[in-house]
Amino acid sequence: MLVGVQGVTKQFTTLDTVITAVDEVSLEIEVGSIVALTGASGSGKSTLLHLLGALDIPDAGTITVTGGPDGDQDLTKLNRKQLAAYRRGIGFVFQQFNLLPTLTVIDNVTVPLIPLGKPSAQARDRARQLLADVGLPDRDHTLATRLSGGQQQRVAIARALINQPRLVLADEPTGNLDSTTASQIIDLLLGLRDTHGTTLVIATHDPDFAARCDRSITIRDGRIHTDTPTR
Ligand code: ADP
Ligand code: MG
Repeated sequence: MLVGVQGVTKQFTTLDTVITAVDEVSLEIEVGSIVALTGASGSGKSTLLHLLGALDIPDAGTITVTGGPDGDQDLTKLNRKQLAAYRRGIGFVFQQFNLLPTLTVIDNVTVPLIPLGKPSAQARDRARQLLADVGLPDRDHTLATRLSGGQQQRVAIARALINQPRLVLADEPTGNLDSTTASQIIDLLLGLRDTHGTTLVIATHDPDFAARCDRSITIRDGRIHTDTPTR
């Protein structure tokens, strides 16, 4: 097992209500698996991904990570510095790509390295290799905003891989793409297990995408509704 979620709850308090976005969820993500999270908008997929990536901390329950670079960890017990180190070991891919528009393609890929100091020549070489891996060679010095949506998502995937993550979390990564481009990005993401040895958890509205993952979990009102192997 890579990540174990035990009885995790996350609530958001707004002006007049408390929303339980994730409601006593327990699940295990196996090393090397590709897991789809599906469910209606507002069901809690993004919140669950944020909890897995330590972008947010649960109100109750535990999230245990086994065999990481820092050994076995309970995310709910880490201090800020440990959390930052954990996050650096996760690759994030978002629906809106979230590239920095004033930076070139290669500088976007090395952005996650900035907290560790100026990216080294080796790091830039690795970024160049990753851009080739995601099917975007020879675009290193193009401004990110000049790319198509599909190309921007390829850059975002290269960026997600720069710290050699064991786990990649993707939040509706094809939600902003036309179907032809989406299918190319799906192939690329599903291939990362073989090409880069990553475990993947992918929130998606696309049933065909979910069916191509190893396992499909549907979320309803913050709870796991179904959890089925797809093959
Ligand atoms: P999904 O990704 O499946 O669309 P989310 O995890 O984004 O669902 O949201 C689950 C529920 O939590 C929704 O009701 C949403 O409005 C609420 N929610 C998510 N994030 C916040 C937040 N930062 N503040 C208040 N409510 C939130
Ligand atoms: Mg969402």
